[in-house]
Amino acid sequence: MVSENIFQPYLSNQKTTFVYDRELGKFIGSVLWRTATVSLDEIEDPVIQHKIIAACSEWKDYLLSNIRPKIFDEFHLLFVADEWGDAQPHSFVSQYFTRVVDCHVIELKDNEAWVCLKFARFLVVGRISGNVPTFRYSQVYCEPGMISAIQYIDDPKFSKYLIDRSAAIYEYVIENTSVGQSDIIQKHFEQNAEKIMATDLGKRIKQDYSAEIVTFVPDLSFKYACDCCARQIAEPEGYILRTSEILLSAQYWKQYFRLANLDDIGKHASGRVDHFKAIAGQDSPWVVCEVCIDLFDIDKNLAKEFMSEWIMNKSKYSPPKSENFRDHLTEAELKFIAKNITTS
Ligand SMILES: [Zn+2]
Repeated sequence: MVSENIFQPYLSNQKTTFVYDRELGKFIGSVLWRTATVSLDEIEDPVIQHKIIAACSEWKDYLLSNIRPKIFDEFHLLFVADEWGDAQPHSFVSQYFTRVVDCHVIELKDNEAWVCLKFARFLVVGRISGNVPTFRYSQVYCEPGMISAIQYIDDPKFSKYLIDRSAAIYEYVIENTSVGQSDIIQKHFEQNAEKIMATDLGKRIKQDYSAEIVTFVPDLSFKYACDCCARQIAEPEGYILRTSEILLSAQYWKQYFRLANLDDIGKHASGRVDHFKAIAGQDSPWVVCEVCIDLFDIDKNLAKEFMSEWIMNKSKYSPPKSENFRDHLTEAELKFIAKNITTS
């Protein structure tokens, strides 16, 4: 089901936002547990090793007895882009990031450690130690929720680590392939070039071969995406709205149901209610771009002030009245929202 609801629609470019149920947290817990178990012997730092043993125990309890992890509960699912543009940091980027399966423990400076499994264009990570904010929009909870494929890695250490590892894996293979083996591979490639180039592997080799190689320089500008249209924007653009303000817009629902292919109320009444629950249950603030802001009848100056605070705090800010929308709406407003969801 995780594959049908998330992986396949992402790979076929059908969707960028995914509603998930409890199964996703379980899936991530299970791959992290397996990865941690097989990687344990490779860890040299005894403190990290000890923490991984503790994490494995929590994850096992979660999988077998449904006891939620208490300490090792930071799970992320990262969606890897299909295209890297015309320039990239080394000549194996496309092959590694779109095809390779790689599982290991990532150890960074400042005692930061992650269990990581990469498969095709997805990366699953679970925090073992450290408290640097590393990712945005990628966290998966043990509860049903929503995840976007527009995500950011805020810690340049993590990006650099992945880039260096992807190069090192290929360099190791090349260095450890004998001249005889290299000749056989070369000959096989030449004889079957047309066939290989028509496959996905061929497409990736071509991308890597034609890209310009430039040194990796982390982009430190603060970027984010509009929660209504998924357009990427950067500071100081945008507004911050609360969930209750989002729910009150009839125009927002119209746009949302159209984007989610739920226009036909006759066919999709229950689907709409599921989406409503996922959206209304969010306590986090909403980023709204300059175009989408016209969908809402709100105080723009106040929403801009909230945005300044949100940027200043690097997204770790919630304006007042963000939680539980029901506490901030009148009976009449709640009825108005229900009418929009179920009849328009
Ligand atoms: Zn927008």
